[in-house]
Amino acid sequence: MTDSLQGHKARKRFGQNFLQDDTIIQRIIQLFAPQVGQNVVEIGPGLGAITKYLLPALKKLHVVELDRDLAARLPTTLAGLGELDLHQADALGFDYRQFVQDGQKLRVIGNLPYNISTPLIFHLLSHADTISDMAFMLQKEVVDRLGAEPDTADYGRLSVMVQYRCQVDWLLAVPPESFNPAPKVQSAVVRLTPWINSPYQCVNESLLQQVVSTAFNQRRKTLRNCLKNMATEEDFAAVGIDSGLRAEVLSVQQFVQLTNQLSRHV
Ligand code: SAH
Repeated sequence: MTDSLQGHKARKRFGQNFLQDDTIIQRIIQLFAPQVGQNVVEIGPGLGAITKYLLPALKKLHVVELDRDLAARLPTTLAGLGELDLHQADALGFDYRQFVQDGQKLRVIGNLPYNISTPLIFHLLSHADTISDMAFMLQKEVVDRLGAEPDTADYGRLSVMVQYRCQVDWLLAVPPESFNPAPKVQSAVVRLTPWINSPYQCVNESLLQQVVSTAFNQRRKTLRNCLKNMATEEDFAAVGIDSGLRAEVLSVQQFVQLTNQLSRHV
């Protein structure tokens, strides 16, 4: 048991990798730029590595922490730094709308447990209309997928669905030594900003999800093959997409155009 964890034993099942590099923590805070009066939630505050800078800058902060032991310590660790609204709960099923008051959108920050990062991002995106921006520490590989361009190995369902809802900005690379215990993978911080004026006009979002998952399900196959139960040659022709191509070469805009065409007959 090391001193830097103040006697806490890191729990693997909760994805606990605590930030211990103060230079990195301060850089994250600087990039996030918290301002008094903003409505912010931190997911997985842990031992308070990021929280201890956020709270004095904001004066008031919501936190959602699953680990009972860590949640129980936070009020003492952070005493006197500001008003902490602590929720001992699972961030995955959490209703973030309860934090939105007077229409003031929510900013989200977290060094996320890597095992829940993708479902958590999808959960938060289902509240995208109430969120102004999100800054997440993630496995670098996931950050690469979030921001990937078409026709690259990283481009897939996650890239299309996240870019459909948000602008994606890569912020910072973070090496394993910045954490205790050190994860086996490289990490990076990404910012997701839900579109206010979306470049995409999709008439049926659940159909978009279905088209994108089906198209990428067997990514080596052609669109014609993958989507044979959903789209005809006429559909592809109507939006000018060659059905002999694979999903990975279609832009987000093309997925939206194809979905809008299909929505005419589903
Ligand atoms: N923010 C801290 C801790 C990061 S480790 C730091 O940077 O040092 C990830 C944190 O998320 C841990 O505190 C862990 O207990 C918490 N956590 C794990 N699963 C969670 C879940 N489903 N909901 C909320 N918090 C969770």
